Amino acid sequence: MVQFLQKMTANMTRLFQPPHSNKTIKKAIIATSVVATLSIGSVYAANDKDKDKDVDTVYHIYSEGNLLGTVSDKTVINDVLKKKIKEAENTYSELDFSIDDQITYVPERVYTPLYDNKEAIKNVNSSFNVLADAEGIAVDGKAVAFVSNKEEADRVIKRLKMKYVPEKVLTELENGSKEVKYDDFVYIDVHLEENVTSAAEKVVPEDILSVDKAVELLVKGTLQPKKHVVKEGEVLGQIANDNGLTLAQFLKLNPNLNEEATIHIGDEVNIQSYEPLVHVAVEKNAVRNEVIPFETEVIEDKTVFKGTTNVKQEGVNGEKVVRYSIIEKNGSIAKKVVVDEAIVKEPTKKIMIKGTKVIPSRGTGNLSWPTVGGYISSPMGYRWGRQHKGIDIAGPSNYTIMAADNGKIESAGYDGGYGNKIVINHGNGMKTLYGHLSKIEVKVGQTVSKGQKIGVMGSTGNSTGTHLHFEVYENGKLVNPRKQL
Ligand SMILES: [Zn+2]
Repeated sequence: MVQFLQKMTANMTRLFQPPHSNKTIKKAIIATSVVATLSIGSVYAANDKDKDKDVDTVYHIYSEGNLLGTVSDKTVINDVLKKKIKEAENTYSELDFSIDDQITYVPERVYTPLYDNKEAIKNVNSSFNVLADAEGIAVDGKAVAFVSNKEEADRVIKRLKMKYVPEKVLTELENGSKEVKYDDFVYIDVHLEENVTSAAEKVVPEDILSVDKAVELLVKGTLQPKKHVVKEGEVLGQIANDNGLTLAQFLKLNPNLNEEATIHIGDEVNIQSYEPLVHVAVEKNAVRNEVIPFETEVIEDKTVFKGTTNVKQEGVNGEKVVRYSIIEKNGSIAKKVVVDEAIVKEPTKKIMIKGTKVIPSRGTGNLSWPTVGGYISSPMGYRWGRQHKGIDIAGPSNYTIMAADNGKIESAGYDGGYGNKIVINHGNGMKTLYGHLSKIEVKVGQTVSKGQKIGVMGSTGNSTGTHLHFEVYENGKLVNPRKQL
């Protein structure tokens, strides 16, 4: 009565000898492997007991070589497994379930059946998990997330890409378009940097993620240990905080440190941060109109006084069309290069004239005629019972009044009978004075050069007609200008 049922499994040999038999040793090799889906479990046929009414069959339950118990009937265990699956199906209605391991029933025919259904049920309950059919998403060969099926895994990958390119673009590119124009960009390629694959797996239902959660996990990534190099001014609490850690968490990562520890610039400390599991690379071109800023050219001119700057030509910006090649990784620009550019309008440069002529503030000692032509209409000396302290010059070709020598403006303003008056200190003991001006064109402290325009002839103050009143001093003493001119 040796019976082979279903499949053979190795090392499943049981020997027994009925107590009342002394003639023969009955050898039974009864082995079966039942993949623990319920349908197969019920296919198992019992040994026929009819031949010997005194003999009963019990079933030893094995899982991975471990005896979980002995039952009187296999349906006892099948019912337990059925119930587990039913419970799982009630909790996760959208998933398909099976049992995570194989159960092997080894029947034994005995005269005195010894079994403990309760104990066996307890052991089966604690040893077996209900597993759901799932699709594992693997990055570079390592499973990192599970979704409920292949369709959802494909959706996860599509949604990852759609975080960084519009769906229309993705669809056209995947349908073979070489480039897709959308908004301001021409998209050329979208791909995952890592090798992302999926395969059917069986996992506990708690591990199965929704499409949204799976996308989030792949993009956000997992916490990875990292090194941080201490920079100037950083303290422990701040480094922890900047990296999303409490001080306690930070110190746990750095067992060699405590709250009072001193850190130095350049020290390495342990931190952790999220590293994405996948990177979506997007290659696209962009065409942009850009301004070409004008240049400024400065031309030095030694005929113009130092400190004076004049604009000779106003600058005008130009315009160009630039085509960029851009590679983004998870939305951040990883590379941006100019492919070509075309100038639409050349810029016009700005031209500045900068004076370099240095004015010596010390006089030469030789005075020049302070007006443009003209004549002495009144000499220095006594007139109308008073001394005339300088000379009057009238009848010039134009009314420009010029400095008689290099010097600094000592005073400039209205002064009683002088009207508008300028005094120049020539720095060599000499001073000159200019009176009755209609207009003063210098300021106190300003350096002027010999022959430089300082004002306009007029008739302000005690004057009867347009003329210049001109005085000369040497070391504080009034002298006759004619001596110098
Ligand atoms: Zn005068």
